[in-house]
Amino acid sequence: MRLSRYFLPILKENPADAQIVSHRLMLRAGMIKQSSAGIYSWLPMGFKVLRKIENIVHEEQQRAGHIPMLMPTLQSADLWRKSGRYDAYGPEMLRINDRHDREMLYGPTNEELITDMVANFVGSYKSLPLTLYHVQWKFRDEVRPRFGVMRGREFLMKDGYNFDLTKEDALHAYNRHLVTYLRTYERMGLQAIPMRADSGPIGGDYTHEFLVLADTGESEVFYDSEITDLSFGDRAIDFDDKAACQSVMEEFTSRYARTDETHDAVAFNEVPEERRRVARGIEVGQIFYFGTEYSEKMGAMVQNEEGQRVPLHMGSHGIGVSRLLGAIIEASHDDNGIIWPEGVTPFHCGIVNLKQGDEEADAACDALYDSLTALGLDPFYDDRKERAGGKFATMDLIGLPWRITVGPRGLKNGVVEVTSRRTGESEEMSPELAIAKIAAIYEGL
Ligand code: ATP
Ligand code: MG
Repeated sequence: MRLSRYFLPILKENPADAQIVSHRLMLRAGMIKQSSAGIYSWLPMGFKVLRKIENIVHEEQQRAGHIPMLMPTLQSADLWRKSGRYDAYGPEMLRINDRHDREMLYGPTNEELITDMVANFVGSYKSLPLTLYHVQWKFRDEVRPRFGVMRGREFLMKDGYNFDLTKEDALHAYNRHLVTYLRTYERMGLQAIPMRADSGPIGGDYTHEFLVLADTGESEVFYDSEITDLSFGDRAIDFDDKAACQSVMEEFTSRYARTDETHDAVAFNEVPEERRRVARGIEVGQIFYFGTEYSEKMGAMVQNEEGQRVPLHMGSHGIGVSRLLGAIIEASHDDNGIIWPEGVTPFHCGIVNLKQGDEEADAACDALYDSLTALGLDPFYDDRKERAGGKFATMDLIGLPWRITVGPRGLKNGVVEVTSRRTGESEEMSPELAIAKIAAIYEGL
C-alpha cells in the first residue's frame, strides 16, 4: 500500500478524552473513530490489525478441531426466558422491539442460542464431542464504557462452546481450550497468564481468566513470578490426547496466579516472598466449564450408550478479539508510538523515501515495493512529498516493526537502511539483502 492512496487520518494532537496510552495511540494512528460512547468505526489501519488477530484466533481454534460458524447478533428474548437469564441480565442487555412488537435483544453472549441449536440437531452421543465457535460482535451496555476498545459497548468476541457426554470429556475440552489460548496469545506477541477466576453462582474450580500484565489493567492480580518464565512456544500437541492437554494445564496453572476475586492471602503467603507479585492485568479471555445447567434448561439431551437420555456437559470459552488490540498496544509501545509484534502488524514493513521525486530514489523504492509484494509481503510505502522527520514520526507512530529507508546518498553506495522499531537499531545493506532479511523475519508467521 502507498500512503498517498491510503486512508490514514493521523491526529497531530493528543486526544484529550483518552486516558490510557493504547486508546490515545489508536486514535492518533488513525485506527478507530468513536461513533458513540463505547461504539467505534474501525478505520482501515485498525481493521487490518483486527482481522489479523481474528485470523490467528481462527487458525488456533481450528488446529484444535473446533468448528467455526456464525450466529446472529440479534436474538429472541424467548430463548433467554428459557434459560432464566432474560430478567437476570439487567440493564447491560440492549433490548429491542421489532415492528410486530416482538422482544429482541442484541446478544451479549450466545449460550442460549447455541444450546438451543444443539438441542435441535444433536440427539446421540455419537455426535460428540462437539465444539462450535464463532467470532461475532457483542453488545453490552456497560455502565462506564472507557479506554477505547478495551471496554466498549459493541465489541468483537470469539465465543466457543463445547458439548460433551461426560464431565471428563468436558474437562478435556476445557484443557484443550487452555492450550489453544496459550498459543493464540503468544502468536500475538503477548504473555497472557491463566489465573484462577471466580465461577460465580455456578461454583466449581473450572474457570480461568487470561490476563496480560499492564499497569492500566482493570483487574488486580496476585501471582508467583515463576509463572512469567513459562512459554508454550511452538510445541506440537495432539489435541485428542487427554493426558497431553492435562499436562499443559498442570504446567501453566500449578503456580499461584489469581484475580482479586479468588485471591487467598494464606495460600499466597506460601509462595516465597521474593516471588510474590501484586500487579494489574487486562482480561483478554476466559474459559469456563459449567456442567449441565444450560443443557437441562434448554433441553440439550442426548442418548448415551445405554440408551438413556442425559443432559450435555458444556463449557464456554471467550476471547476478547477487539480488546486485544488495546492490550497489545499497552504491552508494546514507547513514547513515539505503537510497536507491533510481527504476528499482528498491519503491514510487514515500512518504506521511507527520503527524497520523493528523485528519480533514482523513487525507482529504488518502487523496486523494493514490487519485490516485497511479489514475495507475498505487505509493505507500506510512505511516498508523500514530506520531510524525512515527518515520515519517520508517522512510521514510529503506526508502529510497523521494520522500516527500510531509501535515500540518494545510500543508493550511491548501493545500500538502504533497515531499522528495527523495537530496538531502534539500523543496519545498512543492499536492497536485495534487505528484502531477504524482511522475508526471513516473516517466514512461517
Ligand atoms: P469484564 O470482566 O472485563 O467485564 P467479562 O468477564 O464480563 O469481562 P466475558 O463474558 O468473560 O467478559 O467475555 C469474554 C472476553 O470478552 C473477556 O475476557 C474480554 O476480553 C472481552 N470483553 C468482555 N467485555 C468487553 C467489553 N465491554 N469490551 C471489550 N471486550 C470485552
Ligand atoms: Mg470474563
